[in-house]
Amino acid sequence: MSLLRQPILLLARSEKVKNLVSTMPVSSGIVTSYVPGETAESAVDATARLADDGLRVTLDFLGEDTLDVEQAEKTVAAYLEVLQELSTRGLTRGAEVSVKLSAIGQALPEVGDKVALENARTICRAARNSGTTVTLDMEDHTTTDRTLATLRELRKDFPETGAVLQAYLHRTEADCRALAYEGSRVRLCKGAYSEPETVAFQDRLDVDKSYVRCLKVLLAGQGYPMIATHDPRMVEIASSLASRYGRAQGSYEFQMLYGIRPEEQKRLADAGETVRVYIPYGLEWYGYLMRRLAERPQNLSFFLKSLISKK
Ligand SMILES: Cc1cc2nc3c(=O)[nH]c(=O)nc-3n(C[C@H](O)[C@H](O)[C@H](O)COP(=O)(O)OP(=O)(O)OC[C@H]3O[C@@H](n4cnc5c(N)ncnc54)[C@H](O)[C@@H]3O)c2cc1C
Repeated sequence: MSLLRQPILLLARSEKVKNLVSTMPVSSGIVTSYVPGETAESAVDATARLADDGLRVTLDFLGEDTLDVEQAEKTVAAYLEVLQELSTRGLTRGAEVSVKLSAIGQALPEVGDKVALENARTICRAARNSGTTVTLDMEDHTTTDRTLATLRELRKDFPETGAVLQAYLHRTEADCRALAYEGSRVRLCKGAYSEPETVAFQDRLDVDKSYVRCLKVLLAGQGYPMIATHDPRMVEIASSLASRYGRAQGSYEFQMLYGIRPEEQKRLADAGETVRVYIPYGLEWYGYLMRRLAERPQNLSFFLKSLISKK
């Protein structure tokens, strides 16, 4: 992992830095390169642009760690709004939504799991009525078991609900085996949180090796793997494993984040692969932006310049 990752993630928690950065207009270059805007309309406009290039999307309304029932309800309402907007504009075929359970109540004391499950059901129902699906994002390791338990409950009524597994966790290869069954949509990513060595591989190479082991399990299995990475090596390995296991294009998909390696997204789609772009939007873009910068400290100088010029 990069030496700068920890300090940037720590800096991200500073209120002073947050206040300074949050006064940047969302239109400033560095923000819009990762987040198309703050409104449902901006997310749906980005969806339409990407659809023109043959790309699918998953939309994430930014907001995490809600300890407030009303805030959780507002997040649910935001998802219903964007699903409606997608439906009105005829875009649901290639667009689904990604939901963080912490944003819809999972962290509420005592009732968290129940509230998050009910809220997730509401979003899944609206998604199904619009002809699309939901994927549950995965957050830090303290929530993995609870998120997978909520997924199991949701899949009883909405079997199309997608899961996310993070290759940096020691447990993930076993979780991939448990989830590689028919109809099971599983996004495999490396993992974005700062995790202790008791639960997660720390060395980049060990994370990559785990990613490849998990890819093998998912691609050899019966489910629908969603290969979420920008890493050129992982993309190449996934493509050759897909042919080795006799997977036809369309029986798995690649996923990348909005604004990251857009030419590669287009190249894969032009080669006939299904490619889905993860589009975050909303007022709470600060934490998301800082996690992306922590992954790519080379972008820091660009970021600092936009902070000084505030454009
Ligand atoms: C669709 C999608 C959904 C995700 N959902 C989750 C989730 O639910 N939970 C979770 O913990 N994590 C999630 N992630 C984040 C993921 O875990 C990683 O933190 C992130 O994708 C970086 O890992 P990487 O596989 O791209 O490889 P890395 O080894 O980080 O990067 C490989 C290469 O990609 C390029 N690259 C990577 N990041 C950037 C950047 N910010 N700017 C420019 N180029 C870059 C560079 O060329 C780099 O060398 C998701 C990622 C994607 C793509």
